[in-house]
Amino acid sequence: MKRIGLLGGMSWESSIEYERLINEGVRARLGGTHSADLIIRSYDFAAIEALQRAGDWAAAGALLAADARHLQTAGAELIVLCTNTMHVVAPAIEAAITVPFLHLADATAAAVRAAGPTTVALLGTRYTMEQEFYRARLERHGLRVLVPDEPDRTVVHDVIYDELVRGVVRDLSRRAYLAVIQRLVDRGAEGVIAGCTEIELLIGADDVAVPYFPTTRLHAAAAVAAALAAPDDEPHETR
Ligand code: GLU
Repeated sequence: MKRIGLLGGMSWESSIEYERLINEGVRARLGGTHSADLIIRSYDFAAIEALQRAGDWAAAGALLAADARHLQTAGAELIVLCTNTMHVVAPAIEAAITVPFLHLADATAAAVRAAGPTTVALLGTRYTMEQEFYRARLERHGLRVLVPDEPDRTVVHDVIYDELVRGVVRDLSRRAYLAVIQRLVDRGAEGVIAGCTEIELLIGADDVAVPYFPTTRLHAAAAVAAALAAPDDEPHETR
């Protein structure tokens, strides 16, 4: 089993889900007293959020790249970045390490393609919904990506930063998200990507009438598969 390096704390509300899901996945595969072999670097999210708001992606990339390198030096054989948004700096991280980097958009796109939809709604932070790094990566897998129009986009973004990363889960916000999702389904979405790792704390698959793709679960499952892959299996890296 490979040792997984997790870059987390973005926010820790979803990072603890990663830790739980990866451990559960390893136990399901190996049984007995087995659990995952993990190293976790968990940030103070306020510092990350300040860099995001300042648009200082270069500083954020340098920080995450240095820590990915530290995880590798500490023995990580695979790096998992536990946030969709910060995949905006994935190239900087990939350039700093020689072990595989398991890109969240690739794991998500693979699950969508396996399930069948080709037009998907993408919910996430404003950065994820509006910038190219994530949508273009999904589109490279042959997907058509719809994001909410305004004011829905602001609602989706604000619920993440004002509530979910602070551990606040409100029925009112769940209903608001479901209304946003319905408008995207009306525009042709055949599935919904919860493209922020905290959204699945608010919305479950049972809440949504179309196929639902929760990125924390999908990424954790991909990490377990990569950690337990036989040495001669295809590598799960993306470069
Ligand atoms: N965890 C969130 C995501 O998956 C948002 C917080 C962050 O900006 O990292 O995008």
